[in-house]
Amino acid sequence: MPQTSEYLPGVISDNGTARLSNFVAGKWVETKVKELLSVTNPSVGKEIARVPLSTAQDVDAAVKAAAEAFPKWSTMPIKERVQIFFRYKALMEQHMQELAALVSEENGKIMSEAVAEVEKAIEVTEFACSMPQLVSGEVLEVSRGVECRIDRFPVGVVASITPFNFPNMVPNWTIPNALVLGNTMVLKPSELVPLSSHRIAELLKQAGLPDGVFNIVHGGQTAVEAICDHPGIAAVTFVGSTKVAKIVYTRATSHLKRALCLGGAKNHLIVLPDANEEMAASNIAASMAGCAGQRCMAASAMVGVGAIDHIVKRLCDEARKIVPGKNLGPVISTQARERIERYITEAEQAGAKVLVDGRKHVVAGKEGGYYVAPTVIDYVRPDMKIAQEEVFGPVLAIMRADTVDDAIKIENSNPYGNAASVFTQSGGAARYVAERASAGMIGVNIGVPVPREPFSFGGWNESKFGAGDITGKSSIEFFTKPKKTTTKWNQDAKVNWMS
Ligand code: NAD
Repeated sequence: MPQTSEYLPGVISDNGTARLSNFVAGKWVETKVKELLSVTNPSVGKEIARVPLSTAQDVDAAVKAAAEAFPKWSTMPIKERVQIFFRYKALMEQHMQELAALVSEENGKIMSEAVAEVEKAIEVTEFACSMPQLVSGEVLEVSRGVECRIDRFPVGVVASITPFNFPNMVPNWTIPNALVLGNTMVLKPSELVPLSSHRIAELLKQAGLPDGVFNIVHGGQTAVEAICDHPGIAAVTFVGSTKVAKIVYTRATSHLKRALCLGGAKNHLIVLPDANEEMAASNIAASMAGCAGQRCMAASAMVGVGAIDHIVKRLCDEARKIVPGKNLGPVISTQARERIERYITEAEQAGAKVLVDGRKHVVAGKEGGYYVAPTVIDYVRPDMKIAQEEVFGPVLAIMRADTVDDAIKIENSNPYGNAASVFTQSGGAARYVAERASAGMIGVNIGVPVPREPFSFGGWNESKFGAGDITGKSSIEFFTKPKKTTTKWNQDAKVNWMS
């Protein structure tokens, strides 16, 4: 077994292979399921563990544990709950390198990207630690002698279903906020990257989280469907592809649960000729290629307005500096690599021009890895498949437009709406685009416009289903329900039309 997963809790050796357990009521529990999925390190294409595809019974056991823990946890004062998360934050900082190495091992991203991912998880935890300041109630004398107050209550057992591209950060988008607010949780991590969740569970326990407050059920579709159907789960968050986000949102809400489902993306960058050449080129290259393009915030389409050849040329130079195996990781699987290369080939066959070609890239010494080098394709037309669909690889499709309005029209014609950026030195032009782009997160001269805490994360259109955002202050609405109490103690207060 490789070094990073060697010390993982909840991993049992099963005839020489590392088999993962679920985490229920503070203990690692072996599932009875026979069906196991191979987890590979995408940098070398070697198996590192096997993950069980849990059943509805496994989900039920985790929900029961979370429900049992709920009464005590939800009534603990928030200022006490938050102490555990101060310790959790300190533990993440202390174990930063090791957490990042685990992310890198199971997802493939390079260490600096993995560190950045854990840093973001820490930032969300810091925000959660400020919850007592944010959720103190509201009180007002609404008529003479009559007081109305609002207190926030947790919703109950919540479930968090996460994707492969951020094994540590995306689970931590929901864990600190949901738990600090008094909910208990069942996490269903991506079956492609299930290992990081084991260290998350261990660190939460070490920080003092009571057993049952946080549980893990490994698996895929069957486990997710059981989560959507389970009457003991009050709310579901999902982060993943739009196809599955729609399925989960529809199924969970049909069982009258709260649901917030974040989907895929097709993020456009609108580049004007006056953009700072160096800044635009380096930002765009980093945005499209970073994390091997497997970010829901990655730039995957660029619309150049007018004379932008000088920026395209510089961008290609920057893209060539990003070298797989050196400063770029692989994509998640051999199927993903094939899908990405197919998009490139089809665009080429449809008349687009491949300026930088990352197909069939082999990294010496890591021949089994799933690498695609940065790829820049120019003269893509908006009706081409590569312009319309999420590619989820280090590929940039460049389209050309005569006017800013035409560029905005291209951006807004795609069904997604996660992020959009504009590169220009004109404040007026930037504002014009920012106001009109149909996306939840806008960048001005920023390639990856992820809002930092306390600003919330969430897209529009087919990139998100459900109200509100998943992090920041918006998460308070999702993870709590307000109780309004009207009180009259003043004997002199008259009965009026309301009270
Ligand atoms: P995915 O949709 O394949 O999987 C996400 C989760 O859904 C996993 O836990 C998986 O086990 C489960 N799942 C898969 N198929 C299912 C089915 N048919 N029924 C029920 N559950 C199912 O996504 P992925 O490939 O792991 O992640 C990449 C996608 O996630 C991309 O589309 C990316 O844009 C998106 N993403 C979005 C955001 C965002 O904030 N909007 C963030 C990260 C990733």
